[in-house]
Amino acid sequence: RVWNFSAGPAALPLEVLQQAQADLLDWNGSGASVMELSHRGKPFMAMAAQAEADLRELLAIPAHYAVLFLQGGATQHFAQIPMNLAAPGDRADYVLTGHWSEKAVSEAGPYVQTRIVASSKEQGYRCLPLVDTAALDPDAAYLHYVANETIHGIEWRQPPPSGHLPLVADMSSNILSAPVDIERHGIVYAGAQKNIGPSGLVVMIIRRDLLAREGRPMANVLRYREQAAADSMLNTPNTWGWYLAGLTFKWILAQGGLAAIEAGNIRKSGLLYQAIDGSGGFYRNPVDPAARSRMNVPFTLHDPALDALFLEQSAAAGLMALKGHKAVGGMRASIYNAVPLAAVEALVAFMAEFARRYG
Ligand code: PLP
Repeated sequence: RVWNFSAGPAALPLEVLQQAQADLLDWNGSGASVMELSHRGKPFMAMAAQAEADLRELLAIPAHYAVLFLQGGATQHFAQIPMNLAAPGDRADYVLTGHWSEKAVSEAGPYVQTRIVASSKEQGYRCLPLVDTAALDPDAAYLHYVANETIHGIEWRQPPPSGHLPLVADMSSNILSAPVDIERHGIVYAGAQKNIGPSGLVVMIIRRDLLAREGRPMANVLRYREQAAADSMLNTPNTWGWYLAGLTFKWILAQGGLAAIEAGNIRKSGLLYQAIDGSGGFYRNPVDPAARSRMNVPFTLHDPALDALFLEQSAAAGLMALKGHKAVGGMRASIYNAVPLAAVEALVAFMAEFARRYG
């Protein structure tokens, strides 16, 4: 297998894929595929409950938070969150740090009056903005931020202050990469396709008092309260995604939990940033070091004319999916939990050799 630096859907742990490969044909000696199990049957219900229990253990999720396994991708929840949390005419505050927080604002637009309370747009999204609690709207339904900007490579080490407002975090691209203080948040949500499993699944951790909010009129299937009451099985859930998420949670526990995972991520990202910063200007990452993402590392080559060659030769060396997002150009190495240290070591060795040859 190649080293996969895709931003998402992204690399999964080899052990998870091997288990899934076996279970795809014959789950637990049942003679049926794990994908062929009814979500109402005991085996799947037990698996689903165990996945939730393992996630609760990993993130130390208190009992007054519900855990939901939903569908629609994070993008759908950019809209569904205001539908659930804001009544018609309500306002909500947003922090802008890059592409995904912009998208969160635009998708929320039809359902809540959005206001930008802090932004690093003028700085080209190369740093984190200061969030002044005195500037927050005391009547806002919530404050939304994106914990890790997958495209711009900016990450919050600590959540921004939110005063008394429920803090809502899109953690799609850094969930489970380090411990998180869940109680600082009203909602933590994440599309699964980076650190959890396949796309099409969204994990949401929501403080139970927020489930009482009436929001606006909507179908039951969109209402978090109804999904919580039905254990996320108001309709047929993404059983395959839920099962794979459970395998990944078990894998993280076996690695030693989030403290061990964080230590690995610090080491991997440190190695890569060091290679960039120490390249004498051949490679560059423009992000303020205090805000650099440990998951997504965008970098440019000093001469963009070398980009195509870099991509061609890195692919030939077994380093997959290093092309950067068109919004920022250059390269991007996504080094989620499942990307091992050996992959980053292979990448920095390739980068050094490439710089030596073409510098
Ligand atoms: N939020 C972040 C931080 C992302 O990185 C992405 C996509 O990769 C999304 C939201 C959108 O997720 P989806 O495509 O599952 O809707």
